[in-house]
Parts: sequence; C-alpha cells; structure tokens
Amino acid sequence: MPITVQTLRDAVARSDARMERLEDPLNAADALLGDGDTGSMLARVIEKMAATDLTATTDVGAAFNALARATMAATGSSLGTLLATALLTFAKSTKGRSEVPWSELSGLIEQAIEAMKLRGGASLGDKTILDALHRIAQSLTGIDDASAVALAAETGARAALEHFQPLPCKIGRARLFPEKSTGAHDPGMLALHLLLRCEEVSDRDG
Ligand SMILES: [Mg+2]
Repeated sequence: MPITVQTLRDAVARSDARMERLEDPLNAADALLGDGDTGSMLARVIEKMAATDLTATTDVGAAFNALARATMAATGSSLGTLLATALLTFAKSTKGRSEVPWSELSGLIEQAIEAMKLRGGASLGDKTILDALHRIAQSLTGIDDASAVALAAETGARAALEHFQPLPCKIGRARLFPEKSTGAHDPGMLALHLLLRCEEVSDRDG
C-alpha cells in the first residue's frame, strides 16, 4: 500500500490521540529552554488538522495543502511555521497524485528540509527538528514498505535525539544559554520522536 489521503488521515488521527499524553511533557521540555508552549502549540495544530475534512479528495497534494493551511491557521510559532513549510513542500511534490510510493518519502523529506532551512534560517547541526528529519530521511532511503518505514523513522528520530542531547543548541533564543540546552532535548526533535514511536505511549512515560 502506497501513501494515500487515507494514510494522512490515519497519521493525523493517531497523532491527535497521542498528543493528549504528550502535551505536558513537551511543554516541560520547552520550559527548560523557552516559553514552555511547544506541547500546547502542537496539540492545537494537530487538533486543527484532525478537524480538517479530507474525505472530499483523493489528491495527496491537496490533502497536504489543507493540512498546511490548518497548521498556519492554528499557530504563527516558529516550529509551527516550519511544519507548515514542510507540508507545503510535500503538497507541491505530490500534487495531482492519489498514490505516492513510500520509497519517495526520503527524497520528499530532504526537499522539505531545504525549504525549512530557507524559511527558518537553521542549518543542519544546529540541534533543531531539521536534524531529526535529516536522520529520518537517511534511515528511509530505499525502503518501500509502510511498516518498515515506520520502524526506520522511529529509529532515525531516536538516533538524532540521542546524538544531539549532549550538544548545545546553536539557533534561536536557546543558543543564548548553551548551559541550558546542553544535555536537554530540543522540544521539536522530542515531539517528532514521541509521535513516531511505534509502541503505544504508556501512562508511565506520559
Ligand atoms: Mg516555545
């Protein structure tokens, strides 16, 4: 089964359900470095995505476009803007197609990273969600099966999180306090890791 609009609907619904337990830990992770709103912002964005009616289209690009618009309507935050930028890049590359092979996802993510670099000014190595996406894109190279993609994406997101934890953040407000970001998780990277985790998030973790 390739990527279809239904794949996106399922991913949004699953993320929306997970955010209930992730909102507080993600706010706490952000509070170490910033204003402590990453969890609430993402919960709001994903709720708005989940409320977006995608039943009328089979065009994957149109669905990505609708999700980007939902994101922009829900937040003007820097992480939200990067997310919308990624979704718009996916939309452009999948416009008019009802099926997209999983093997294209790695390349789509690399394209999105380039657009996010231009939009947000971050480079690879700055300890942002771009680094996690880059690692995920590398992990997905050559994989054309949904469950193998899920596992590889989870592995890539965790590897990026662990690699960057001991390093300081080099962009945004957090770069001004390297002693705070060193040893801490970037909230965007953490969010991606927790949303992609294949096993259900247990109450113990939440
Ligand atoms: Mg914040």
